[in-house]
Amino acid sequence: MSDMSIESLNRIYEGILADKDEIIKKISILKQNDVVKEYLDLCDECDGLTDAQRILYKQIKKAEYSSCNHIWITTQNKYDDSEGRMYRYRGCIKCGLDTRVRQYSHRYIKRLSFDQQIMYEFIMNNFINRGIDTNLLCDLELAKAIYSKIKEIHPNIDDEIAKKYFEVALDDIRNIKVNEERKVSRAKRLSLSNNFNRWN
Ligand SMILES: [Zn+2]
Repeated sequence: MSDMSIESLNRIYEGILADKDEIIKKISILKQNDVVKEYLDLCDECDGLTDAQRILYKQIKKAEYSSCNHIWITTQNKYDDSEGRMYRYRGCIKCGLDTRVRQYSHRYIKRLSFDQQIMYEFIMNNFINRGIDTNLLCDLELAKAIYSKIKEIHPNIDDEIAKKYFEVALDDIRNIKVNEERKVSRAKRLSLSNNFNRWN
């Protein structure tokens, strides 16, 4: 394409415009059809419900974060060169609130997933230093999976005991040597993906 003349590029461009005009005409005829009309209305309705769903999902997550008496782990320790200090990021093993989203400045919030954007907004606008801290450095997905297992076995467990059970379970996972096959079945037991490998 690079060595084509402006004239031939223009000709191709005009051809595309003509094709598109033809298609736009066909689309507007189809839009008169009852079945197509119904289809388009249903698409609009579905989009409306998706918007409502997102708004409600956000409200539910924020209510979960506000009502949670967090059990924190450390998700990351990161040295900031420009500020010359260490930052500790925390995650809650109960509700999943993860302060690592703080690493993004407000300008880049669109780069975060929808869930992370909700967390970002919540963390920036609320006091989150509630609950208890394990001080353990651990993958958050793993920590949440262990906590869910503990809750499944002991539905009425209080946070202090849950924290102790969590610490013991994590200690076992890290100190008891198991082969790769056992690691896969352990991941499965914890409802983690088969190739999960962030045990340490
Ligand atoms: Zn929490």
